[in-house]
Amino acid sequence: QAFIDFSDVWLAYNDELLAQGQYAVEAIDLKVDRGGFIAIVGPSGCGKSTFMKLATGLKKPTKGSIRIDGQPVTGPLKISGMAFQAPSLLPWRTTVDNVLLPLEIVEPYRSSFKAKRAEYEERARKLLQKVGLGGYEDKFPWELSGGMQQRASICRALIHEPKMLLLDEPFGALDAFTREELWCILRDLWAEQGVNVILVTHDLRESVFLADKVYVMSKRPGRFVLEREINLPRP
Ligand code: ADP
Ligand code: ADP
Repeated sequence: QAFIDFSDVWLAYNDELLAQGQYAVEAIDLKVDRGGFIAIVGPSGCGKSTFMKLATGLKKPTKGSIRIDGQPVTGPLKISGMAFQAPSLLPWRTTVDNVLLPLEIVEPYRSSFKAKRAEYEERARKLLQKVGLGGYEDKFPWELSGGMQQRASICRALIHEPKMLLLDEPFGALDAFTREELWCILRDLWAEQGVNVILVTHDLRESVFLADKVYVMSKRPGRFVLEREINLPRP
């Protein structure tokens, strides 16, 4: 059974667009195995963000069905972690408190957050160490470089052990050195956590380095074209 399963998925953003037959994505058929790392590349406006919104349940399809891990998609955050081009850490929170945020919001962590705070904080600190942020746990976002903030935002996306990690241009704003360092960190985290990753990127080299499958989304909305299937040895 596929982990991510889109069957003939169409989305029109509103009734007017629907009446005109204007779909943001059309006829998406996509099956991804458990533990996979896929990259989606394509020009602006081809529907990548829309695909992400559908995968997280932020948008319901106009037609078709979406199942993640065998279940219809219920809503954002429950099973997914997200990181975007802007790290968007809360400026009034320290690094570790930013990373803890999903545990304050998402069940089953939310209800036990007060009681288990020390344990959760330990987990957050371990994860921060792993991405090279040891020593920065109690700093505020403005005391961190852009690359450090992005590391923290990836930790935040993973802290609640999501089944799926959605990354939308996460390294787009970083210099080449920092970017490649974060590629390696991300691959390690992926291998360790067994999380399904969907990466949206404009960087073909990044997609080939990171993903085990790369999909090109064409200008004709929603037509996923399997560009290449890269079989990397699973670490
Ligand atoms: P990408 O992320 O690849 O740039 P999008 O998913 O944002 O593409 O957009 C796909 C199509 O849907 C585009 O034609 C875009 O104009 C349209 N679209 C995106 N968001 C909305 C919206 N909120 N309302 C109406 N149309 C939208
Ligand atoms: P807590 O740690 O108790 O959950 P927050 O981290 O949400 O609280 O907020 C910490 C402090 O920042 C609070 O004093 C709160 O009033 C303030 N604050 C909350 N939202 C904003 C905001 N959008 N901009 C600036 N300060 C905020």
